[in-house]
Amino acid sequence: MEVYILLLLSERTEIQFYNNMSQMHHILNETRYPKNYKPEIDIAVIPWGATEAHNYHLPYGTDNYLTQAFAEESARKAADMNVPVTVLPTIPFGVNTGQLDIPLTINMNTSTQVKVLEDIIESLKIHNVKKLVVFNGHGGNDFKQIIREFQGKYPDVFICQLNWYQVIKASLIFEDTGEHAGEMETSLMMYLFPHLVLPLKEAGNGHAKELVFSARKEGWMWAPRPWTKVTRDTGIGDPAKSTVEKGHQYFEEATGKIAAFLKELHVTSELYK
Ligand SMILES: [Zn+2]
Repeated sequence: MEVYILLLLSERTEIQFYNNMSQMHHILNETRYPKNYKPEIDIAVIPWGATEAHNYHLPYGTDNYLTQAFAEESARKAADMNVPVTVLPTIPFGVNTGQLDIPLTINMNTSTQVKVLEDIIESLKIHNVKKLVVFNGHGGNDFKQIIREFQGKYPDVFICQLNWYQVIKASLIFEDTGEHAGEMETSLMMYLFPHLVLPLKEAGNGHAKELVFSARKEGWMWAPRPWTKVTRDTGIGDPAKSTVEKGHQYFEEATGKIAAFLKELHVTSELYK
């Protein structure tokens, strides 16, 4: 009997210790400085959002809320597979040059993002964290060229960009695949942060004009949109068919895939074959 109790206790301690370990590592905001050991982090995840209007029914912080939730849940699932990963605090400002005439849009230029990202890389490098995932949740952010620039400067650091909204093909789950405050973002907010979403009857229809040139429609020419010239309610995409279930499905499938990628990134020693 005594032995049985002891066994139970030791099993419990082990589980608690493991939970503490995984909690300690996977969200930096919630991590305390450890007394007795040096945390070994292999992958740092940098969630990057934006502060911008999202139709009438979703909040300005939609990209920040969603990006952080995707990053944390993906990292939690990866930590459960013993991946030493940590999610840094979310950067709340993105490139929003096309929306500055919409009140309280906060723009962070790409040239500033270069500096922010570089300071993060420099800080992490000292502690031997050499795998960075820029975890993006805003269409106006594009870190490709920045990462190319850093490739020359930090050849021993692996930096990649991941857009959570592209992990699962939107048309597999959503009827309307409009990209801003549409069915995907609305369904996800309804699932994850329902208290921040107004009833769908309050939302605009997200109808948006397109650039007239066929070169743009064919996809081989691009120019940024002045937001207020193409949409009235700031949305691009109709949120009318949004549901909690669709949000749940996308979130679970996407975070599962991202966690599997983080695991791969952790265990793979030979990146190119
Ligand atoms: Zn958004």
